[in-house]
Amino acid sequence: MAKAKATRRPRSRRKKGLSAREVMDLLGPSYGPFEHARRLDPAEEMVFTILSQHTSDTNSERAFHRLMEEFGSLEAVARGEVGRIAEAVSVGGLARVKAPRIKQVLNIVLEKRGNLDLNFLAEMPLPEAKAWLRELPGIGPKSAAVILCFSLGMPAMAVDTHVHRVSKRLGLIGPKVSAEDAHDVLEAMVTPQEVYPFHVALITHGRRVCRAPRPRCGECPLAFGCPSSDGFPAKAKV
Ligand code: SF4
Repeated sequence: MAKAKATRRPRSRRKKGLSAREVMDLLGPSYGPFEHARRLDPAEEMVFTILSQHTSDTNSERAFHRLMEEFGSLEAVARGEVGRIAEAVSVGGLARVKAPRIKQVLNIVLEKRGNLDLNFLAEMPLPEAKAWLRELPGIGPKSAAVILCFSLGMPAMAVDTHVHRVSKRLGLIGPKVSAEDAHDVLEAMVTPQEVYPFHVALITHGRRVCRAPRPRCGECPLAFGCPSSDGFPAKAKV
């Protein structure tokens, strides 16, 4: 019996994907300018990253503000009772997990450094600064990159679920590259000055257009070169 022929797109028409530079050039006009602004002190950012795990930005912001209102300073949080910390951050969810972690991490930093000033990390080479933070419990590659990039202006690429999904759909990273591994892969694609804008461009695109269940390929400026665009309806229902 004759074998059925596999249907393949002709080589010349297959989309090869866009480079990181092309992605930034195409998204810049819509989402830029990408100006870096320090959000929080690095120790505050560290606590914020723990609060932001498995919850929305809005809830983690509320939890952080309540924590600071309740205790007044991170030093006071480090001395505080876990139950009181949990109560303060309950709006962010998983308070029974996050509260002891926050207290533990703050006290480890105090033991190691004698204070909660993490600005010294900016003086270290990037890989060493990442490694220092990743020794802390609950601080993975994304949290470390967020602290270094957002608070200290270092060229660390933070890969959250949006950045990971968009990068895979665009073919910037392979389909089997984990979010953890994607940090270094994506970081190496751009210059240090471009890491922050690259992160913001991808995360914004993931939130607004290349959404998880229904990407809006029909209105995406990257569609002409995106290898995944054919896999989704041209005009996704909103
Ligand atoms: S074309 Fe579709 S899948 Fe590709 S980046 Fe744009 S929205 Fe995402």
